[in-house]
Amino acid sequence: MKVQIALMLGMRQLEGAGIEGASTDARRLLAHALDLPAERLFRAVNDELPEECHKRYLKYLSARESRQPVAQIIGARAFWTHEFRVTRDTLDPRPETELLVEVALEAPFARVLDLGTGTGCVVLSLLAERPGAKGVATDISEPALAVAQENAARLKLSERVQFLHSDWFHGVEGRFDLIVSNPPYITEAEMDELAPEVRDWEPHSALTPGGDGLGAYRAIAFGAFARLRPGGRLAVEIGPTQGAAVSAMLAAQGFDLLELRQDLGGRDRVVLAHRPGGAPSGNAG
Ligand code: GLN
Repeated sequence: MKVQIALMLGMRQLEGAGIEGASTDARRLLAHALDLPAERLFRAVNDELPEECHKRYLKYLSARESRQPVAQIIGARAFWTHEFRVTRDTLDPRPETELLVEVALEAPFARVLDLGTGTGCVVLSLLAERPGAKGVATDISEPALAVAQENAARLKLSERVQFLHSDWFHGVEGRFDLIVSNPPYITEAEMDELAPEVRDWEPHSALTPGGDGLGAYRAIAFGAFARLRPGGRLAVEIGPTQGAAVSAMLAAQGFDLLELRQDLGGRDRVVLAHRPGGAPSGNAG
């Protein structure tokens, strides 16, 4: 079968299954089956699709039909300036989370702590941008940490990041110039409304802390002050309606200079807070 025909059939199959973005997805899955970057697929459209690749492609299509996200099927997601390995054990890095990286890079830092690192996309993006900096990254999920470690190794950052299997701050030592986190923040009630790609395939513990969705922020607000040097910064991703609640929690713990930042869609997405006092931050900027 020609690549072009396989592509058309794949698009129809996904469309028939009600997948939004069926044509983009079919293209990405076929490119992956052919071991080609997606943007190179058009050059191969008149080629014969090797049997092996066709089998792989059919397998990917049926996974997509059952709503598995493309990033999980192909095992990779582009985030900030790199590709990250993604599995069923990790949250699929979101473009909105790049705002967290952007805000974190606004001031210098020598030591950064990432809480709930998942694929490691946030801390590894930060370390890649700041060659002198070192990081500690925690996650409660050991399989997620294994993926983060693999990503660190692929980006040649293993020597600058220490991974800890930990519940938020447990076992974390020393003080940091910067703490970042994109914690689980979806409320229990909202979980039912999520797209099946997210609800049925991404790790629940990475999506929701249960209840009102604010549990992780309580733990972070409570522990962060003591782990920051005076003048240090805390930046957390939030859900669009959580800005006031999270800011209030941080203010109650003594943080100041609170700021709410919006994503490209104009929704509140990151809360930035400072621990009062101290000199301007680290030496690695
Ligand atoms: N820090 C990772 C990310 O932003 C994982 C976040 C999570 O699992 N909640 O993608």
